Amino acid sequence: MRYIEPHAHMVSRVTDDYERMALAGCEAVCEPAFWAGFDRSSPAGFHDYFCQLTEHEPKRAAKFGLKHFCWLCINSKEAEEVKLAEEVIALIPKFLDRPNVLGIGEIGLNKNSRSELRVLEMQVALAARHQQLILVHTPHLEDKLKGTRLILDVLKNDQRIQPQRVIIDHVEEHTVKMVLDAGMWAGMTLYPETKCTPARAIDILETFGHERLWLNSACDWGVSDPLAVPKTALEMKKRGHAAGAIDRVVYQNPQKFLGQCLKFKL
Ligand SMILES: [Zn+2]
Repeated sequence: MRYIEPHAHMVSRVTDDYERMALAGCEAVCEPAFWAGFDRSSPAGFHDYFCQLTEHEPKRAAKFGLKHFCWLCINSKEAEEVKLAEEVIALIPKFLDRPNVLGIGEIGLNKNSRSELRVLEMQVALAARHQQLILVHTPHLEDKLKGTRLILDVLKNDQRIQPQRVIIDHVEEHTVKMVLDAGMWAGMTLYPETKCTPARAIDILETFGHERLWLNSACDWGVSDPLAVPKTALEMKKRGHAAGAIDRVVYQNPQKFLGQCLKFKL
C-alpha cells in the first residue's frame, strides 16, 4: 500500500520511526508547527524551530526516501502572551518561500481563551495575506465543540479565506459534520487513547463518506503511534472496504488537498 502521513511531529520521533513509516508505504510526511511539550522563552526559540522544520528535518526524512513538508505558526498553547505571538508571527513570512513549506498551521484554539482567539485571527489574516493553505488544531475533549464553532466563525468572518483551502484537524463524531458543511476539509487523528481510535475513525468514514476527509497519526513526544494510518488502512480492509476506497482516504485525499500548494509534489 501507499499512504501520506499528513500530520506528524517528526522532530520528536526517533530515526527508526522514519524507517518503519517508509517500510509501511509512506511516501510523504507533513509536519505542522506545534508545542514542544514546554513553552519557548523567546522568538529566537521559534526561529530555530522553523529552521529545524525547513532545513534539518527534510534531510533526516530523505535518508529513508521520504519527502518532508511542514507548516509554520505559533501554536495555541503558547498564544497567551500576545506580544510574543506578534513577534513570532512577524518571523514567519521570510520562511514561507522555503521549498517544503505548505502553509500556516497548526493554528487554532486550546482553551478557547481571548488571547488564543486574538492570535488565531492574526494568523488567519497572515495566511490570507500570503495566499497560504491553513491547517487547524481543535481543542481536546470538553472544549472541542465550542472551540470548533469559534474557529469556524473566525474563518468565515475573514472574507478572503476559501473554505476548500482549510483543513480542520482532530475532528470527532460531534464536530465532523459542521466542518464538512462549511465546505472545509476534516482530519481524523488516530490516537491510542484520546481523539479517534481506528474503529471510531472508520465508523465516521462509513457515516460521512470519503469526501474531504483524511487520517493522520499526529505522532509527537507523547503517547502516539507513527504507524496509526497504515494500521487503520489494514482495519478498513478487514472491515471490507475496497482497496480503491482505502487508497482514496490515505493517499488521494491528502494529495488533493495538499496539492493546492504547488510545492507539494510526490
Ligand atoms: Zn499536531
